Amino acid sequence: MNRSETDKPITALLPEEIARQVDMLPREGRQLYRWIHRKRIFDIAAMTDLSKALRNTLQEQDHLFALKLVEKQRSEKEGTSKVLLKCLDGEEIESVLLRHVGRVTFCLSSQAGCALNCSFCATGQSGFRRNLTTAEIVEQALHLAHLENLPENSTPNLVYMGMGEAFQNYEAVMNSIALLTHPEGMGIGARKITLSTAGDVPGIERFSEEPQQLRLSVSLHAADDELRSSLVPLNRRYPLKDLHRALQHYQERRSRQITIEWTLMKDINDSPAQAKQLVRFLEGLDAVVNAIPWNPVSGLPYAPSPGKAQQAFIATLKQAGIKATLRRERGGDIDAACGQLRLRHNS
Ligand code: SF4
Repeated sequence: MNRSETDKPITALLPEEIARQVDMLPREGRQLYRWIHRKRIFDIAAMTDLSKALRNTLQEQDHLFALKLVEKQRSEKEGTSKVLLKCLDGEEIESVLLRHVGRVTFCLSSQAGCALNCSFCATGQSGFRRNLTTAEIVEQALHLAHLENLPENSTPNLVYMGMGEAFQNYEAVMNSIALLTHPEGMGIGARKITLSTAGDVPGIERFSEEPQQLRLSVSLHAADDELRSSLVPLNRRYPLKDLHRALQHYQERRSRQITIEWTLMKDINDSPAQAKQLVRFLEGLDAVVNAIPWNPVSGLPYAPSPGKAQQAFIATLKQAGIKATLRRERGGDIDAACGQLRLRHNS
C-alpha cells in the first residue's frame, strides 16, 4: 500500500475510492467501508474478514481517520447528547444527538466556527476558523452512531445545523452526503437529510439543481430587512427579496416543502405584527414554520420569548393558514441547543 501526502482519511472515500487509494481489491474496499460505515468499527484489528496482512498494513498507516473523540455529555432532561471531537490539526468541533420518540437526529457541524456572525448565536460570536473536510463531517455521524449503539439497520435523521453555514462549505457537505447515503454504509435516505442555511442565495440556487430529495431549512428569524440585517448580517448581501426569489426558484425545481426556522427573542421578533410580516414573506412558498424560544448564551443581550408571546406568534401564523409548530428547547443544560455550540470548556 502506498499512501502519499495527498491521501485522504478513508472516511472521505467511497468503497471503490478506498480500493484505489489503499491499493486493495474492490471487494476488500467494500468490506472495509462496511466495517466503518455500517458497523461503526474503527479498530482495524477487529475487521476479521480482511486478511491479516491487509490489517497489518492498514494499522501501520497514520491518519486513516480524521477525528478523535474528546468528550461526551448527555443532558439530564431529555437525553440529548453532545460530543466534542478533535481534528488532526487540533481544531475542536461539536455535534449533537437529539432523541425523539422512535427516532434520533444527528446535528452535524460543517465548519469550525462560522463567518456569518449572527448576533444571537454563540458560534457566530466565536468567529470563523476553517471549513471542515468531508472526512471530518462524515466522522461526526459515525461517532454519534457508534456512541448511540445505533443498530445497523436503523438510520438517523441528519441536519446540517451545528456549527457553520453548510452552503459556504458546499463541496464537502455534498460529498459527506454521498458517503452517508451510500447503500454499503449507513444508507440514510435523502429525505431524512436537511441542509440549513442562513440565506446564502448562491448556495440555494446551486442546491436547487441537486437531484436527490434532500430537505432545505432557512433560518429566517425576521421578515423585514432592517431587523433581519441586524440579526443575520448575511441579509445585507442577500436581502429578503432575493432570498424569496431563490426559494421560489428552488420550489419550482424541486417541489419540496421548505422549513423556516424562527428563533423567538423577547421584544425583538416575537410580536403578532412580526408574525404577519412572516405571513407576507411566505406568500407563494410552500413552507412550514418551526419556531423555538431563544436558548440563552451568556454575554448576549437577548432573552427567550415568554410563553404567552410564543403562543400568540404561532396563533397568528395559524390563523393565516400557515403550518407552524413551536419546538421545545432541548439540550440547553449542556449547551447543545441551537446557537449554543461554541466549546464552552475551552472558553
Ligand atoms: S446562526 Fe448559524 S449561520 Fe448564524 S452565526 Fe450561528 S452558526 Fe453561523
